[in-house]
Amino acid sequence: MTPLPRLNRSLQGAAAFITGAGSGMGRAMAVVFAREGAKVAVVDRNAEAAEAVAEEILGEGGIGAAFALDLAEADRIAPAVEQAAGAFGGLDVVVNNAGISAMSAIDADDYGANWNRHLAVLLTAQPLVVRAALPFLRRSPNPRILNIASTEGLGATAGLSAYSAAKSGVIGLTRSLAVELGRDGITVNCICPGPIDTAMTASITDEDKAAYAKRRTALRRYGRPEEVAHISLSLCVPAASFITGAIIPVDGGLTVRNA
Ligand code: NAP
Repeated sequence: MTPLPRLNRSLQGAAAFITGAGSGMGRAMAVVFAREGAKVAVVDRNAEAAEAVAEEILGEGGIGAAFALDLAEADRIAPAVEQAAGAFGGLDVVVNNAGISAMSAIDADDYGANWNRHLAVLLTAQPLVVRAALPFLRRSPNPRILNIASTEGLGATAGLSAYSAAKSGVIGLTRSLAVELGRDGITVNCICPGPIDTAMTASITDEDKAAYAKRRTALRRYGRPEEVAHISLSLCVPAASFITGAIIPVDGGLTVRNA
């Protein structure tokens, strides 16, 4: 029998640029990727939080550096990507994870401002990061892009139309870039988290979370950031070389549960 080739499931030596890495799923991804050998650019608008995560990585013997960046400031994105690539001698993995979420009904006074902010941070920033990272990804042996959307991009909740529109956009962006960048060997995938225990959902009471999860998810519970981080890792390792354009719910079965 021909021996089965061994594929590489390590990120040893790879450089990863992870946005929103100061908290929640981004932090979990930063730490998990670093544990697998990646040099991690911990990118967040909250400089202190980014520093703390970079320290956490260094404390575990990994390589991490903090980069303060507000993704709503579009002009600052490319310089930050270039700075991170300069620090690490290139970029192999980009994770567009940063996010915000605020309710605003379609007839609310703040709807326009809410819409603009959600679209800027959740959607427009993602291709801007990719454009800046592209020259480095094209030089990488295993280039990976991972975009974080949401089950709100697959279904919807009243009052979240800006969030939902932006996340639906991330899904379309992922599919389109997968097709466009496939010739360069760059994979582009998307994770749609369901309800996850992070700062974003911290204002929901434990009782409300438990009731929602029991009613809506197959696994009857909220997910943990590290559970999303490990699927993210699986999509970014060198061995994940033939999956691209995939939209993967990591939602405890929320999207498949009818009753
Ligand atoms: P989180 O704990 O609030 O982390 C999001 C991080 O992104 C925070 O550190 C936040 O900084 C940062 N951020 C926000 N706006 C930014 C900006 N303009 N520039 C740079 N960084 C910015 O939330 P999370 O739950 O881990 O969210 C991660 C991703 O998953 C988001 O895209 C979110 O939409 C998505 N998601 C979350 C859930 C969920 O249930 N938690 C479900 C589906 C999808 P600040 O702390 O300063 O805001």
